[in-house]
Formats: sequence, structure tokens, C-alpha cells
Amino acid sequence: MRSNKLAGIGMTSQRTRDRLIARLREEGIKDARVLDVMRTTPRHIFVDEALASRAYEDTALPIGYGQTISQPYIVARMSEVLLAGGPRRKVLEIGTGSGYQTAVLAQLVDQVYTVERIPELHARAKKCLAELQFRNVRFQLSDGSWGWQQYAPYDGIMVTAAPEQVPEELLMQLAEGGRLVIPSGRADAQRLRLIIRSADSFSETLLDWVSFVPLIKERRE
Ligand code: SAM
Repeated sequence: MRSNKLAGIGMTSQRTRDRLIARLREEGIKDARVLDVMRTTPRHIFVDEALASRAYEDTALPIGYGQTISQPYIVARMSEVLLAGGPRRKVLEIGTGSGYQTAVLAQLVDQVYTVERIPELHARAKKCLAELQFRNVRFQLSDGSWGWQQYAPYDGIMVTAAPEQVPEELLMQLAEGGRLVIPSGRADAQRLRLIIRSADSFSETLLDWVSFVPLIKERRE
């Protein structure tokens, strides 16, 4: 991450990024690994150049196709919750979007599998992560409501779009001890949930009220 584009200047400079990290800390994010990774990950690379100067505001931004790059607080919160139970080796992400959350996860776990349904976003995120030289991310273009069975079970699953109800398939692809972090509910009443799989059951903890784009479930032929 040595080029000027990655290093950033002015509103994308390290000082601006440090201010965002200070704000995340004030908002209650405690995990130093997550804060460190977010301090050094160039979020401005994942948005349109016209929005680069706003990349280190704690806000979601449009990435085209009616989708958004998640708010930094949400990225930090979901990452922190996912990692809280100990190291996660294999993590599945549903909703690649810009690839920013993918890049954050890829620095915190061994291997990330990420699924996106919009071809243009899938291609753009893939290119962006290749430019940043991430080698521990596999991308799939498909409906992630079904998970990604080929590499299951996962130690962690993070979903960055909200279904009304948690898809059964995702629960089934969790390893024992695995953690699923997912927003769900009606558009006006979404709640972030942590679901943990144990040998013979699932436990659920309700977390923050949130506002995500919907998880679009396509019909299976
Ligand atoms: N984490 C992303 C980031 O940091 O840019 C933000 C993702 S955006 C809030 C949600 C993404 O989920 C969108 O890119 C959307 O196309 C994708 N999505 C919605 N339904 C999906 C589905 N069934 N399968 C895969 N991706 C889906």
C-alpha cells in the first residue's frame, strides 16, 4: 500500500483515517485488531472517485446499482462480534458489495469466501482486492441466500444485506461453535443478530437496530 493513490492525501490522508478510528472508539468499538485493520485499509479505493473525500466519514455511501458501502461503525461492529468468540479461520461473507468489508475480514481471518449477486459489483470488488494484493479471498457471483455449500462448514458467516428471516441454509453451513452475524427483519425494524451453533442447538443474541439493503432471494429453478 505504498502508492500515492493508496496512501491518500487531504480528506483521504492518514490523519483523516485516524479521526475515524477515534470516533469508532468513542462509539464503543473496543477490538484493537479491528481498529488497527480499519486504520490502514484505504476505504477511499472502494468508492467512486467523486466520493473519495467522504470515505472516512462514518457513513454509508452509494456504490451504484442501488447498493451501499456499509457505514464504518457497522463494519467494525460486525467484525468485532464475529471475532469475539476467538479466532475464525474460514469465514463466509454474503453481500460483497464494494469489497471493503471483505478486505477488512481478509486481514482478520485466514480465508474469506464472499458472494455477490450483482455482476458489476462482483467484478469491481474482485479487481480492487487484487490491486491491494489480497490472496486469501475467493469470490462467487450468485445468490448468497443459499450460502456457499462447496466450502462449508464455516467458522463464521457475515451477511451484509437483510433478509426478513434468517435463511436456514446459512445456519446449516455453520461449523460447531461457528458464529453467524446477520441483520434481519422488516425494512423498518431490522435487528443485528448473533447466532452461535453448538453441538445440538443454536443460541441467538439480539444486538443493534440497523438499516441494511434487503437480501434478495432469487427463486431456484
Ligand atoms: N459489505 C459491503 C461493503 O462494505 O461494501 C456492503 C454490502 S451492501 C450493504 C449489500 C450487498 O449485498 C449488495 O452489494 C447487494 O447486491 C448484496 N446482496 C443482496 N442480496 C444478495 C444475495 N441474495 N446474494 C448475494 N449478495 C446479495
